[in-house]
Amino acid sequence: MIDFSIPSDVAALRDEIRAFVVEEIVPYETDPRLTQHGPTDDLRAELVERARKRGLLTFQAPRRLGGREPSHVEQAVLYEAAGWSTLGPVALNCAAPDEGNMYLLAKIADEEQTAAYLQPVIDGWQRSVFAMTEPDGAGSDPAQLSTTAEFDGDGYTINGRKWLITGATGAKTWIIMADVPPNPHGPHGPTLFLCGGDETGIVIERVMSTMDRNYVEGHGVVRFEGLRLPKSALLGEVGNALRYAQMRLAPARLTHCMRWLGAAERAQAIAVEHARTRTAFGKPIGEHQGVSFMLADNEIALQQCRLAIWWACWRLDQGEKGRHESSMVKAAVSEELFRVADRCVQVLGGIGISDETPVAMIFRDIRAFRLYDGPTEVHKHAIARQVLRRGGGHR
Ligand SMILES: Cc1cc2nc3c(=O)[nH]c(=O)nc-3n(C[C@H](O)[C@H](O)[C@H](O)COP(=O)(O)OP(=O)(O)OC[C@H]3O[C@@H](n4cnc5c(N)ncnc54)[C@H](O)[C@@H]3O)c2cc1C
Repeated sequence: MIDFSIPSDVAALRDEIRAFVVEEIVPYETDPRLTQHGPTDDLRAELVERARKRGLLTFQAPRRLGGREPSHVEQAVLYEAAGWSTLGPVALNCAAPDEGNMYLLAKIADEEQTAAYLQPVIDGWQRSVFAMTEPDGAGSDPAQLSTTAEFDGDGYTINGRKWLITGATGAKTWIIMADVPPNPHGPHGPTLFLCGGDETGIVIERVMSTMDRNYVEGHGVVRFEGLRLPKSALLGEVGNALRYAQMRLAPARLTHCMRWLGAAERAQAIAVEHARTRTAFGKPIGEHQGVSFMLADNEIALQQCRLAIWWACWRLDQGEKGRHESSMVKAAVSEELFRVADRCVQVLGGIGISDETPVAMIFRDIRAFRLYDGPTEVHKHAIARQVLRRGGGHR
């Protein structure tokens, strides 16, 4: 039986996180270090130190690595609280891509890799990237992977070009997806590699100009130019990159939904306050039916999204892979929250598109969310394939 009652210790942690974000992090939303390319590393470091002092940093990490290891449903409650400010997850070290990378590395990195590349990320000292998407290769279809990792028996030589690589500038933990071509020395296929960011052969061409503003150091275009890695840089087994990526993506999609739910709630709170205090045609605008319906639609949508997220999390907590469930929830929630944010902009009138409030920023960031971790159409494509395979009417 599904039971969504929130244990008192989780509720207490949620309240602590919310208070921390409201009191200490919201004031940074107008800091000039929150740039067109996201928060700078310098701003991030300052925010992380605040969370460290409050004992809240990386609360989601496994216990064996210093975290509190909440269940997926518990994470839903906590990440929503963190998302009240788009800088909240950055401060708490539960923002993408680090959060998903930490999850994956905790599952498949060996002891040495954990010490060198995962623990410093969990401790907030360094950031990580996941480099998969390519201008002419992997994207919605990762099987189009064109970056290669030639194996000569001793080590791997990686060549290729990636883009939209979040946080590439300054990141010290790199997870790289590349294809090992058939070779006489061992297995082949799409493979993950783990290395440091200062390796010769990692060239950051530029940081892209994008409409979102929430990811530390923005999104980079990166070239791997004869990047030479030893066999010990293999992350997991050769040929398993797509399986590992899926392992990372099911929960990572949901944590995106949780954080953006928190941000959309904030937008709604701002829109509601505006609707109560701004007048037009002789009364507060919230008393005009056109506005009240937008606010009501938002309230309904927010609760639907919350329940959908909790349901998929519950399935993961039962030990299921949740690939189909997380696809459905990601597609539905990203589209629904986008409509919520859009209505909030509308209720605010002209200031809705300005930076006088964080609503415009939330709107732009949620727009981007409809694309990453699988565009809506790709999820629908996968959901439809599954439904056609097994027939309708099964739950
Ligand atoms: C903010 C942001 C951050 C990102 N960070 C990272 C990162 O850190 N690392 C990384 O590797 N990548 C990252 N990405 C890239 C992201 O994973 C890709 O944008 C996504 O996988 C889609 O790939 P693509 O952009 O190449 O789009 P394409 O594959 O070119 O697809 C374009 C469009 O085609 C349509 N389409 C594709 N397939 C189908 C289908 N089967 N059925 C119907 N329609 C379809 C969809 O509408 C889709 O939006 C990020 C993207 C964004 C926007």
